Amino acid sequence: MEWTEGVVRSKRIWSPGLFTMAIEAPEVQTFEPGQFLQLGIERPEGQLHRPYSVASPPGDLLEFFIVLVETGQLTPLLWQMEPGARIGVSKKAAGGFTLKRCPDASTLWMIGTGTGLAPYIAMLRCPEVWQRYEKLVLVHGVRHVADLAYQDEIAGYSEQWGSRFVFAPVISREQAPGALFGRITRCLVDGSLETISQSRISPESCVMMCGNPDMLDEMEKLLGERGLHRHRHSHPGQIVVERYW
Ligand SMILES: Cc1cc2nc3c(=O)[nH]c(=O)nc-3n(C[C@H](O)[C@H](O)[C@H](O)COP(=O)(O)OP(=O)(O)OC[C@H]3O[C@@H](n4cnc5c(N)ncnc54)[C@H](O)[C@@H]3O)c2cc1C
Repeated sequence: MEWTEGVVRSKRIWSPGLFTMAIEAPEVQTFEPGQFLQLGIERPEGQLHRPYSVASPPGDLLEFFIVLVETGQLTPLLWQMEPGARIGVSKKAAGGFTLKRCPDASTLWMIGTGTGLAPYIAMLRCPEVWQRYEKLVLVHGVRHVADLAYQDEIAGYSEQWGSRFVFAPVISREQAPGALFGRITRCLVDGSLETISQSRISPESCVMMCGNPDMLDEMEKLLGERGLHRHRHSHPGQIVVERYW
């Protein structure tokens, strides 16, 4: 893998341990919204690196939406970084969680848990997704209200696009006005997710899902019962997935 040195330009803390870092790394090659880069730190034992979805569109400062995993290896080091710090960034993005790999549909469901919101932020900031899909439903599953990041930006999309854009926050550990309570899977089964979204997930939809592997597996099973399956070039379907671990 080829590396370049980046400089942390800003750090925004959304809630304890949940943050967005903007990194300047002009040698990073252009990429598709939804792809990921590696962030790496040199240590005496060798380099430690992990993949992170880019939350910004190509051409901007690189933005990463990251959660501190207390028991993790890299995130405690990233969490300590402040503006001015230097960090390794892979030069070439990778991954197929992009609109290029999504089938055409009238409605695009963008479903993410936690920091699985990141690739959708990159997509929503670019014109293609708005041109290609009549309706976008962004579903963000989190534990606490405080974990709902990017709220001002998301509210801006609602204001700008009216009924073409629906934001459905799903909170599992506390009740909050305007949000669904529970897990995304439960809200699909009890109908509340589709009621709030005023859309139905059907074989005519495209469903992107990103984040926690349990959510991805359970959703894929539930959607399979409705006749939806993974989209592949050789075997067109509806579901496109990015697993974070
Ligand atoms: C394609 C891809 C894109 C990714 N994009 C992001 C991103 O945009 N933001 C981000 O925060 N992470 C992202 N991840 C996860 C990231 O690569 C690391 O696994 C994570 O930051 C933990 O690293 P660590 O070294 O601190 O923990 P490790 O020592 O590697 O421990 C890994 C464990 O941490 C937990 N974990 C990993 N990621 C998360 C997470 N996002 N939320 C909650 N628990 C987690 C899991 O239990 C996992 O088994 C992505 C992973 C992949 C494969």
